[in-house]
Amino acid sequence: MSRTAVRRPHVVIVGAGFAGFQAARTLSRLTRRRADITLLNPTDYFLYLPLLPQVAAGVLEPRRVTVSLTGALRHVRLVLGEADGIDLARRTVNHTGPEGDRGELSYDRLVLAVGSVNKLLPVPGVAEHAHGFRGLPEALYLRDHVTRQIELAAAAEDVEVCRARCTFVVAGAGYTGVEVAAHGELFTRSLVRNRPLPDGVRPRWVLLDIAPRVLPELDRRLSGTADRVLRRRGVDVRTGTSVKEATRDGVRLDDGESVPTRTLVWCVGVRPDPLVAGIGKPLERGRLLVDPFLNVPGHPEVFACGDAAAVPDLAKPGQYTAMTAQHAWRQGKAAGHNVAASLGLGKRRSYRHHDLGFTVDLGGASGAANPLGIPLSGPLAGAVTRGYHLAAMPGNRVRVAADWLLDAVLPRQGVQLGLVRSWSVPLDTASPELARVPGAPERPEEEQPKRLERPEE
Ligand SMILES: Cc1cc2nc3c(=O)[nH]c(=O)nc-3n(C[C@H](O)[C@H](O)[C@H](O)COP(=O)(O)OP(=O)(O)OC[C@H]3O[C@@H](n4cnc5c(N)ncnc54)[C@H](O)[C@@H]3O)c2cc1C
Repeated sequence: MSRTAVRRPHVVIVGAGFAGFQAARTLSRLTRRRADITLLNPTDYFLYLPLLPQVAAGVLEPRRVTVSLTGALRHVRLVLGEADGIDLARRTVNHTGPEGDRGELSYDRLVLAVGSVNKLLPVPGVAEHAHGFRGLPEALYLRDHVTRQIELAAAAEDVEVCRARCTFVVAGAGYTGVEVAAHGELFTRSLVRNRPLPDGVRPRWVLLDIAPRVLPELDRRLSGTADRVLRRRGVDVRTGTSVKEATRDGVRLDDGESVPTRTLVWCVGVRPDPLVAGIGKPLERGRLLVDPFLNVPGHPEVFACGDAAAVPDLAKPGQYTAMTAQHAWRQGKAAGHNVAASLGLGKRRSYRHHDLGFTVDLGGASGAANPLGIPLSGPLAGAVTRGYHLAAMPGNRVRVAADWLLDAVLPRQGVQLGLVRSWSVPLDTASPELARVPGAPERPEEEQPKRLERPEE
């Protein structure tokens, strides 16, 4: 007697960040191998983005903020590559692998969790001279670049060149820009201990935002705490100010001032990954519109979550959920549940989440936090922030804690490896998670590097 094999449904999840990782993990637990789950992602790791400023400042080694996908998601098949086309009618996802090989995945259910990329503004020179802060390559680049600027400044004969190299401009004072400037200032302070600068020259960090206060999207008390800590450390905080033009040698501000610098870090925000715009479904400010069950309307087999999806915020009627890890993580879980429900396992549920507060790591022992609405500052906020990150990371906690311990007792390592170059981390890219390398297979939407902008880099 022959038995007919029953085909298991195939779920494809595109993107393994906060939303995709959690969707895969939840679905794998709920289906217990009654579905085949494929995770398509350009890297073999989940990246814990909130700790990236600590990588740029040399507190954490880069692998600490990654979690191996195959190690953490045992029953999920990982396909390395980037989705570059989705055919909703044929139910297929086309992708390109790390060595240029093309492939196609067919799905019964699809979860889109491709996140976001650096936001560009039409400011002359920014695309050429600024660097974003959305992926590990950019953080590694910044760590090396800052170290190199201090080393070149220490050896410079012209004091004005020295001053320019020691000036670091961060555009955008949201949580990314604030943390980059706060950690950056402590990092350069530690670097100059072994590299004396000419008399009177000190590293200078300038933090700009067009908004009237730092952390404009967060609670005013968090904003006040961060502002106080930054100014006390000597960070030049300029609110109500924007960049008019960026050049190789400096930045011109909208108040007419020119700031000589070799460093412009672009933290003005993010935009949804352009992949979702290509699907041809309604968007809300570039995010794919979904219903409260995270379903793309008209396609009960397609779900979207995280930064790339416009999810109605049931806790704030009329609004969409913010682009935060807090939402992405929980939406991933909800998407996992609802995909399982669509396969007959459990009941689907709508997504609703009340903000639990925010934590901002200001480096050293300092932080600003408002867990459950309780405003905290100083070392207590710093401890809550680090405790929160340790609890939230899906792996590598012991290594992260060990790096924090070492950083507390040992001087920071001030060496540059020079492995990530300026041209390999362009601001205008759909793939901030991958550094461009010479001779890599052509990516359809991007050109290979044409020039080496800065001879020393
Ligand atoms: C420096 C920094 C600090 C932050 N700090 C905080 C914080 O403290 N608290 C907070 O709540 N939020 C914070 N955020 C925001 C938070 O990280 C994002 O909201 C969150 O990562 C969104 O999750 P996601 O899953 O939608 O996207 P991501 O986590 O970005 O994941 C997207 C995944 O999709 C992959 N991908 C992209 N394109 C494709 C493609 N074409 N094919 C296949 N895979 C693809 C990417 O490689 C990535 O793995 C921070 C962000 C940054 C940059």
